[in-house]
Amino acid sequence: MAFTLPTLPYAHEALEPHIDTATMQIHHGKHHQAYVDNLNKAIAGTAHEKMSIEELVASAGTISPAVRNNGGGHWNHTFFFESLTPTTGGEPSGELASAINETFGSLDELKEKMNTAGTTRFGSGWAWLIVKDGKLEVSSTPNQDNPLMDVAETKGTPLLGIDVWEHAYYLKYQNKRPDYLKAIWNVVNWDKVGERYNAAK
Ligand code: MN
Repeated sequence: MAFTLPTLPYAHEALEPHIDTATMQIHHGKHHQAYVDNLNKAIAGTAHEKMSIEELVASAGTISPAVRNNGGGHWNHTFFFESLTPTTGGEPSGELASAINETFGSLDELKEKMNTAGTTRFGSGWAWLIVKDGKLEVSSTPNQDNPLMDVAETKGTPLLGIDVWEHAYYLKYQNKRPDYLKAIWNVVNWDKVGERYNAAK
């Protein structure tokens, strides 16, 4: 069955002023849609048509670059848009909050670590908060790779992924990737990240 573009869980303008409306329209409606369309084209008539997106991503090292890039793009963007919320001012709670403090010292230190991972990722890619062997860890991946891929340098279960492709921020922040990374923390859905942590740990 062909993959389809998931509906955005909030309006395009809902993340203003941190993430602008035009960026959301293009990011979801054009970029994510293109990953879905190109993934469907790449798997048409092959055995990959019967595989789930998770199965495709997990076998990234043995599938074609088109399936790896567009399958990763589809998985990453679905995960990314679900990780954001218009409700600002949220914070980690419960066991996730304790684990963040234990591992990084504080939420601010985690943010700094993620932002460094994002700014030092040359070219396009992603910064990640993952669970690896029961512990929190920050990592990054190039292109549309992710920590679920067999080819990932640091494998683990993603809790939060931040898109650092220029298409994620250039209209509003131009070349200032650090400003975008600073702003995006205002719209992180910590309830969702906490749910993922509870399922993964
Ligand atoms: Mn993107």
